[in-house]
Amino acid sequence: MATERKALFVFFGGTGDLAYRKLYPSLFNLYRKGNLRSHFAVIGTSRQAMDDDKFREAVRKSLADSGNRADSKEATDFSSHFYYQAHDVTNTAHYSVLKEAADKLDKKYKLEGNRIFYLSMAPQFFGTIAQDLKSQGLMSTNKGAFNRLVIEKPFGRDYDSAKQLNDALSKSFEEEQIFRIDHYLGKEMIQNIEALRFGNTLVESLWNNRYIDNIQVTLSEKLGVEERASYYDNSGALRDMVQNHIMQIVSLLAMEQPVAFTDTDIRAEKVKALRSLRVYNVADAATNFVRGQYGSINDQPDYRHEDNVPEDSTTETFVAGKLLFDNYRWSGTPFYVRTGKMLADKFTRVDVVFKRPLVDIFAFPQSQNTPLAANVLTIFVEPHAGFSLQLNAKTNDAGFSTEPIKLDYLVDAEKSKDTPEPYERLLHDVLKGDGTNFSSWPEVSYAWKFVDQIRRVWDLQEPQFPNYTPHSMGPAAAEELIQRDHREWIYRLNK
Ligand code: NAD
Repeated sequence: MATERKALFVFFGGTGDLAYRKLYPSLFNLYRKGNLRSHFAVIGTSRQAMDDDKFREAVRKSLADSGNRADSKEATDFSSHFYYQAHDVTNTAHYSVLKEAADKLDKKYKLEGNRIFYLSMAPQFFGTIAQDLKSQGLMSTNKGAFNRLVIEKPFGRDYDSAKQLNDALSKSFEEEQIFRIDHYLGKEMIQNIEALRFGNTLVESLWNNRYIDNIQVTLSEKLGVEERASYYDNSGALRDMVQNHIMQIVSLLAMEQPVAFTDTDIRAEKVKALRSLRVYNVADAATNFVRGQYGSINDQPDYRHEDNVPEDSTTETFVAGKLLFDNYRWSGTPFYVRTGKMLADKFTRVDVVFKRPLVDIFAFPQSQNTPLAANVLTIFVEPHAGFSLQLNAKTNDAGFSTEPIKLDYLVDAEKSKDTPEPYERLLHDVLKGDGTNFSSWPEVSYAWKFVDQIRRVWDLQEPQFPNYTPHSMGPAAAEELIQRDHREWIYRLNK
C-alpha cells in the first residue's frame, strides 16, 4: 500500500526538455501508485508567459508522449494540480510573486509547508536560485515541514567550480536538504549491486583482492553527440560520464559493508572508498588513462564535423582508464573503466573477473584440455537487466574436458514493465527524504579531485584525434591499456 506524501513541487526550467520528457511522466506514475494523491501541487516556472490551462495541456501531452492516455480522468485530475508562473530566475523581485503563489497552493492543498525545489536548468543559475529562495522567504518555516533542493548535473566542471557552487548552495540549504541527481543511481541493477553484494555470503566473502583479479565497468553509447554538441564539446566524456556515473558505480562496487542500509551509512562507506582511490601523479595519469575522439564512416561525419562542434575540437568522446584503491580490500586489484559515444552498441555492464584456480589439475601433461577460464560475474545494467555467472564445468561427453558455462538471470520482460524509471524512483526518494541514491558533496569532491588530475595532464598534450572508428569499442590505446597488464576486456566486439 503506497503512502501518500504531501508536498509542493516548484520546477525551475518547468518548460524544458527534461521536465516534459522525464519529470512530469514520473510524477504521474507516483500519482497513479498513490504516493501522490490530493495533497500535492506543482508550480512550473520559466521565463516565457503561459497560462495554467496551456501548461496543463503541455503536461498532458508529455504524459501522452510517454505512453499514457492523456484524455483519461486520471490524467486530467493529475494535471489540475499543475500551475504555471512566468519567472526569470535572475530577477529577485520575481521570487516574491512565486512565494505568494506557493503560499496560496500550500493552503489550498493542505501541504503542511513541505517544499521541493527542482532546478532543471543550466547550472550557472543554481547558486542564484538557492540564494533567492532563502532571501525571499520561499523556504517554508512550518514546524516539521521539509525544504528540499534537487540539483541536476553537471555539478561543476572541476573541483574549484564545484566547491564554489556547493558553497553557494550551502548558504541556503543544509547538506541533507540537497539532492544531487545522478540518474544512474536510480537504475534497477545499480541498486541491485548492494543486494547482490551484501545479501549473498557467496558473493561478499569473495569480494576482495584475494579472489577478484579485476573489475571492468563499461558505459557504451551507440549515438554521437546529437543535439547536445554545444554542451558536450565543453565537457567531454571524462567530465560528462566518468566524474559522476562511473565514479558512483565504482564506489558502490568498492565500498565496505555499511553498518545499516541507511543513506548516512551507505554514503559514509562510499566516501571512505573514494578516499582510498589513488590520485595519480603526472606520469601515472598519462599511462593509466587514454582518450579518443570518433572519426567518420560512410554518411557519419567525424566528431569535428558534427553540428556545433569546432573543427579543431580536442574534446574526447571516449575515455578508458585504470583505477587503483590503496586499501586492504582492493590493493593490487585494478578497476578498468571505459565509456564513449558512437561505439558498437548501447549498453552498461559490470564484469567482475575472478582469479583462476591456483592449480589447474585438469592440465596434466597428456591432457588436451584448454586452461580453465576465469569465473566472471557480469551485472547487466541496461538495456536488459540481470546477472550472469561464468563457471567451469565438465563437457557433457564420454571424455573429460572442461568448458565455461553460464548461469544466467535476466529480469523477465513482464517484471521489467513494472520497473520504475530512474526519475520516478529518485523523485519518490526525494519525497521520502532518502538520500541513498544521490551524490553527497564529499563524494562529488573526491571524484573531481581524481578527475582533475587526469584533465590537467591531458590539457598539456595535443591529442592525435580522430583515433577510433564509429561502431568499434574505441581506440587501440584502450586495448593496449588493459593488455599491458596481461588482461583483456571481457566484452569484446567479436564475442
Ligand atoms: P532545456 O534547455 O530544455 O530547459 C531549460 C529550461 O530553463 C527552460 O524551461 C527555459 O525556459 C528555462 N530557463 C532558461 N533561462 C531561464 C531564466 N533566466 N529564468 C527562468 N527560466 C529559464 O534544458 P533540459 O534539457 O531540460 O535540462 C535541464 C537540466 O537538466 C540541465 O542542468 C541539464 O544538464 C540537466 N539534464 C538534462 C537531461 C535531458 O535529458 N534533457 C539529462 C540529464 C541532465
